[in-house]
Amino acid sequence: MRSLCVILLFAQFSCSTSSQETIFEGQSALLFVEEQMAFGPRIPGSEESRKTAGWVVEQLESFGWETEVQHFSYLGTPLMNIIAKSEGVSESKPILIGAHYDTRPYADRDPIHPEAPVPGANDGASGVAVLIELAHVLDRDRLRQPVWLVFFDAEDSGNIDGWDWIVGSSFFADNLTQVLEAAVIVDMVGDRDLQLYIEKNSDPNLVQEIWELADQLGYPAFINTPKYSMIDDHSPFLRIGVPAVDIIDFDYLYWHTIDDTVDKVSAYSLEQVGRTLEHWLEN
Ligand SMILES: [Zn+2]
Repeated sequence: MRSLCVILLFAQFSCSTSSQETIFEGQSALLFVEEQMAFGPRIPGSEESRKTAGWVVEQLESFGWETEVQHFSYLGTPLMNIIAKSEGVSESKPILIGAHYDTRPYADRDPIHPEAPVPGANDGASGVAVLIELAHVLDRDRLRQPVWLVFFDAEDSGNIDGWDWIVGSSFFADNLTQVLEAAVIVDMVGDRDLQLYIEKNSDPNLVQEIWELADQLGYPAFINTPKYSMIDDHSPFLRIGVPAVDIIDFDYLYWHTIDDTVDKVSAYSLEQVGRTLEHWLEN
């Protein structure tokens, strides 16, 4: 009787460990977009931004990630980057996956409401949602290297009231005390009609690895053709010599308008990006 129990317990144990294997779900990521949208625009230094940052930390910790907040200020505005690090062997260099959580204070490409804030469903919330669903599903025992999930503040206030672009990621890169293996930025990755052309400043080897993997997985959003050159959160990493890539769809009709809303975002778009990164980090 006793040995039967042991066998049953063992069977149950093996069964429950294999069923814990989770994969990136686009629907789950879409919910994370909606939860961010409920806070309103995430303008740097605002109450909504602080609440969103608190929510990001809560999500990360609920998925078992050690989280820290990097406080700094820019032109008198208090700002925050949020950093979650996988545990494990720290001899190998970490891979950073980053996204900006702030939204642009003015929809200055909107023909009717240029003074209104950008809602930022795609430009802001989509990248954050991919990172949080990755925090949910990444199997930290299978990571090829330590992974840092980093949420940058103040990417998107450039040319407003004397602000520069990419303020949060610049502060982060300039204050790094550890050498990174690579930095992968996701920005505007939720568009229903997702077209991820190669960003021209991105590290060619990283691009090849990621676009090839997406092709093997059968994801049509990754298009193996260079198109735009961007200043984005990958730029400060390239500047300090870290190979970096910007995964971005810059053909977005609602960019910096008040119509950057959740109905423009699709679960399948988020899923193609999330699953590609999940495979890339775990294998
Ligand atoms: Zn933007």
